[in-house]
Amino acid sequence: MKRKISILGSTGSIGRQALEVIESLPDKLEVVGLAAGSNIELLKQQIEKFKPQMVSVKTKELAAQLGKHALWGVEGLNKIAGNTDNDMVLMAVTGINGLEPTITAIENGISIALANKETLVAAGSIITKKALRNNVSIIPVDSEHSAIYQCINARDAAKVRKIILTASGGPFRTKSMEEIEQATVNSTLAHPKWSMGDKITVDSATLMNKGLEVIEAHWLFGIDYEDIKVVIHPQSIVHGAVEFLDGSYIAQLGLPTMHIPIQYALTYPKTMSGLKTGTLDLTEISRLEFEKPDLDKFPCLKLAYEAGKKGGTYPAALNAINEEAVYAFLEGKIRLTDIAKIVEKGLEEHESIANPTLEEILSIDKNARRNAHEHLAKICKSAC
Ligand code: NDP
Ligand code: MG
Repeated sequence: MKRKISILGSTGSIGRQALEVIESLPDKLEVVGLAAGSNIELLKQQIEKFKPQMVSVKTKELAAQLGKHALWGVEGLNKIAGNTDNDMVLMAVTGINGLEPTITAIENGISIALANKETLVAAGSIITKKALRNNVSIIPVDSEHSAIYQCINARDAAKVRKIILTASGGPFRTKSMEEIEQATVNSTLAHPKWSMGDKITVDSATLMNKGLEVIEAHWLFGIDYEDIKVVIHPQSIVHGAVEFLDGSYIAQLGLPTMHIPIQYALTYPKTMSGLKTGTLDLTEISRLEFEKPDLDKFPCLKLAYEAGKKGGTYPAALNAINEEAVYAFLEGKIRLTDIAKIVEKGLEEHESIANPTLEEILSIDKNARRNAHEHLAKICKSAC
């Protein structure tokens, strides 16, 4: 029997690669639903090729371009995520948009392949509890978390001492503070190792991406923040490692392509040949380097650790403020280095709620975005 999959964010970087994986395994995987934002042309081609039962886009106007059965908005995402014909839903929309459909899928007992880390950052406690209660598996797609998942699966999950997430360091790893202050949108989007959507590429340049991943790992693997280490590894070959109680380490290696973790999640627990991703020739790579992250140059990583440790709604606020600041940077309104400043200010002013409900998280998300815009306006007044 084929595994039936819906993809939320099918026109994005992860979504497109996931469709390539599905195409490479026509006897094993099948598309039942596709949701996108506003890239109607690409979505039309995907509909033609994969013939999904259901499709959804961002707005009613865009849906009208696809015909009378097309869905739209959050409701459309929820209908696709909650369709009980799904065996699995791949969450590959950007940002907080993934939160409600993830919960809908879980409540309908559907397995999740999770790329959208922002969802776990904002509402990790609610999602992991709901998944446990509904006996739903969350298989990570993020490459580091896929690596850790594979390492833990190789041994005894209860005997983990520490986990190590690697980071390429992004385009500014070797640059000075002064050079980072002058970063342009183009130089920020020129990631040395990974080709990804704009939002995560900016997060990778500030190391906020790694900070979000630390919080994601905390919720996925139930590990204390003190036991989650970040290591800069410019070659991006070792994606993650686990230290076990007996002092043994297991690391996962692979070429830096998202096809591998996407396929791992979509075919889990089976291993299939699928897409040919090339062979990892260690002699050609020859050198694997590891260094400590520089928290003065990349304060976003420190801010994320602090928000994670404080808990409550700090991570949700961190995520929302960061998202707004990243889009302001992409629109040329602020400098790259302003992102950390806006996040820091917003978190200082944040009034956290312990054990928040979903409604409280959604309301914190809105308020934090408003707060971010107030700080953005001040920066723009003085600099734009
Ligand atoms: P992209 O920006 O490339 O794609 C985002 C997708 O979400 C697009 O299909 C976009 O549609 C869709 N989308 C955006 N807003 C909405 C909305 N309101 N309603 C419906 N669909 C919407 O992002 P990535 O693929 O790079 O990243 C997706 C997620 O995966 C992020 O959470 C990211 O952190 C995570 N991730 C990505 C990795 C990567 O290598 N790219 C690696 C690890 C994690 P459209 O384009 O049609 O507007
Ligand atoms: Mg990652």
